[in-house]
Amino acid sequence: MPDSHAKIAIIGSGPAGLTAAVYAARANLAPLVFAGHMYGGQLMLTTEVENYPGFPNGILGPDLMEAFRAQAERFGAAIHYVDVTAVDFARRPFVLTTGDATYTADSVIVATGASARWLNVPGEARLRGRGVSTCATCDGAFFREKNIVVVGGGDSAMEEALFLTRFGTRVTVVHRRDTLRASKIMAERARAHPKIDFIWNAAVVEVLGDAATSALRLRDIGTGEERILPADALFVAIGHDPNTAIFRGQLALDAAGYVASEDGVRTNVTGVFVAGDVYDVRYKQAVTAAGFGCRAAIDAEKYLEALEASHGSAAVPA
Ligand code: NAP
Repeated sequence: MPDSHAKIAIIGSGPAGLTAAVYAARANLAPLVFAGHMYGGQLMLTTEVENYPGFPNGILGPDLMEAFRAQAERFGAAIHYVDVTAVDFARRPFVLTTGDATYTADSVIVATGASARWLNVPGEARLRGRGVSTCATCDGAFFREKNIVVVGGGDSAMEEALFLTRFGTRVTVVHRRDTLRASKIMAERARAHPKIDFIWNAAVVEVLGDAATSALRLRDIGTGEERILPADALFVAIGHDPNTAIFRGQLALDAAGYVASEDGVRTNVTGVFVAGDVYDVRYKQAVTAAGFGCRAAIDAEKYLEALEASHGSAAVPA
């Protein structure tokens, strides 16, 4: 016997999941949100958010997510601070398992997001939000006239570096090889930029600073030699990983592990919808994730209406 049944279960509690919760709750669907033991998604790791519309003076990432959560709860979303550990989308209703409980749901919105990869070097976690960031769009403007370092050699790193030239005095890209992985056009644009320097064959092995980032310890990959590079900010741009481990074998995923969807809402399983960064490799913004969450909830509502109308027939609405 399941511990509880919901018309709609939402897995994830970032901007996509909680926006879906607001819409589903306002449609009287009493959504069950599996928020994870750390709710709120990637914005919980940022400080000031200055590009979320409606907040002309900016808002702290965690405060913004707290507002999302309060809004969802106000309309009747039930939020469980547990991680979903397994799903069975082959059965109907769908089955979701947490550590010690089992739930069923007529529809599911997958909004588990993506996690930025970190270097996992000393100082990085301690100085996160104090010079260390994974989001130039979010945090770049705090480093006007400063020395900025970007680590990575892919398109994200080039994009971040180019964007950060608007603010920094200098932007230095540190890459572990001597060739970029980035597309030719992005690589050439970055190489040609007068404010961008490259340090090749180097790894950032430590982030230094007391209250804020002040320097990086670099290690030459070839010689092993170390040196200190003064830096006010470190943007880590070494890729993202979609949080899709529990959906392997349950949902179609693309080659990089993101949930596959033709329209950014429906998955290959009828009744299971997707929203936000777990699908979106392109925009990855809080506001776009919220938009995806809204779309997913509206489509899930339509699906549930059709399901109810077809009640008694074996057909599952497309
Ligand atoms: P990516 O292409 O996987 O590149 C990651 C980069 O980080 C690589 O250069 C890699 O080095 C480096 N790296 C990985 N782990 C590292 C570590 N532990 N320490 C130091 N360096 C590390 O990831 P991405 O740049 O985020 O791009 C992901 C996808 O999105 C790509 O398909 C990309 O084309 C696309 N994208 C496109 C655009 C655009 O077109 N405007 C913008 C962003 C992303 P190695 O090269 O040595 O492996």
